[in-house]
Amino acid sequence: MAALQHKILLDESQLPTQWYNVVPDLPEPPPPPLHPGTLQPVGPDDLAPLFPEALIAQEVTGERYVDIPGEVLDVYRLWRPAPLYRAHRLEKALGTPARIYYKYEGVSPAGSHKPNTAVPQAFYNAQAGIRKLTTETGAGQWGTALAFAGALFDLDVEIWQVGASYDQKPYRRTMMEVFGARVHRSPSDLTDAGRGIRAEDPQHPGSLGIAISEAVEVAAADPGTRYALGSVLNHVLLHQTVIGEEALLQLAAVEEKPDVVVGCTGGGSNFGGLVFPILREKLAGRMSPTIRAVEPASCPSLTRGVYAYDFGDTAGMTPLMKMHTLGHDFVPDPIHAGGLRYHGMSPLLSHVHELGLLEALALPQTECFAAAVQFARTEGIVPAPEPTHALAACIREALACRESGEEKVILTALCGHGHLDLGAYDAYLSGRMADEAVTDERLAPALAGLPPVPAGS
Ligand SMILES: *Cc1c(COP(=O)(O)O)cnc(C)c1O
Repeated sequence: MAALQHKILLDESQLPTQWYNVVPDLPEPPPPPLHPGTLQPVGPDDLAPLFPEALIAQEVTGERYVDIPGEVLDVYRLWRPAPLYRAHRLEKALGTPARIYYKYEGVSPAGSHKPNTAVPQAFYNAQAGIRKLTTETGAGQWGTALAFAGALFDLDVEIWQVGASYDQKPYRRTMMEVFGARVHRSPSDLTDAGRGIRAEDPQHPGSLGIAISEAVEVAAADPGTRYALGSVLNHVLLHQTVIGEEALLQLAAVEEKPDVVVGCTGGGSNFGGLVFPILREKLAGRMSPTIRAVEPASCPSLTRGVYAYDFGDTAGMTPLMKMHTLGHDFVPDPIHAGGLRYHGMSPLLSHVHELGLLEALALPQTECFAAAVQFARTEGIVPAPEPTHALAACIREALACRESGEEKVILTALCGHGHLDLGAYDAYLSGRMADEAVTDERLAPALAGLPPVPAGS
């Protein structure tokens, strides 16, 4: 019997040494972020209280490639290159002629793709003489990644965790604390943004938008503190492109090209990281995959949001970004995929969607957990709740291939493991997980609260 090749591994010497910026390869540049007061494009000075110069430069760079600093590569080598797996047993269970590959990011110290950007963000802040970083976290994966990176570069890390996740996932807080971070339940009494919300509802479940407001408020008030964002922004997606660059090398090693690339989208960073290098190949005519983003039906920014200028946070302290948004006041149902509960979508991915270069689909969480359980029982990895969405979409595609007989190559990012999300699996397995149907009436108030920006912007 021929041995099954499950893992496609790269040598350390094949670790990418540059991040890829998709912007210069797009047919049109994305619309700029605007200052909420003047409605003029924001300049570096507007961002300087929040981010170090090197990251601001990466946010707006027109260069196609950005060198990865040696100090960052040294940390990446703790777990990168990450494995690409062929899902032989899942394929067999589905009876599909499709070949399914998943890039596994759960091998990182934080158990997700988030350290790919946490490490360079901590590095550039430390290099600029910053002593402390603030941030938000939803499910806790980003907070864990930044706490880890802060520990390596000697930075204090203070984290506002979305209340619903803080209550549901105490071990995530412990993990952040093990790495040395301080963690607050958001909304908190430590900021104007948090106090305002708690005055109206002391038991408020929180949202990523609220937690961002709190972290930004604290960073903006202290010259020795900066803010770090785990998704959405261009420099974050830039750092994540190591995922797609490695996956391309790994697929080439087994002489495959993807026909379908699917990933889950919260703020868009694991998806952008997987997809942008592949989009480069597609735009250059070297491959022609369908590219598909999958989001939760309970927080459907790409499929049911509007493409408009909106704030990145709830209190309205960030620049206005043109993106697919449900409105910055939208508070999603506390579904278990905490990392996908963001009202907006990366402006760069939103722009790519507007250009017609990617499809989007929203899935209910019970279908996603059914897929994850099938995946765990065949492949042996318990996925984080977020990539269960990508897996459910892979399974839909693979079953369509069973009907049509097409031998498609399906590629996805399994962007994290779910070892600290077993409560969600318990809810699913015991029949306590429900699918929330989000009505148009429920979406309307937050959409009505979008900031007024003149037409044509
Ligand atoms: C944070 C997170 C997400 C969502 O964020 P993106 O920026 O959309 O990738 C998805 N999966 C995992 C495992 C995460 O930690």
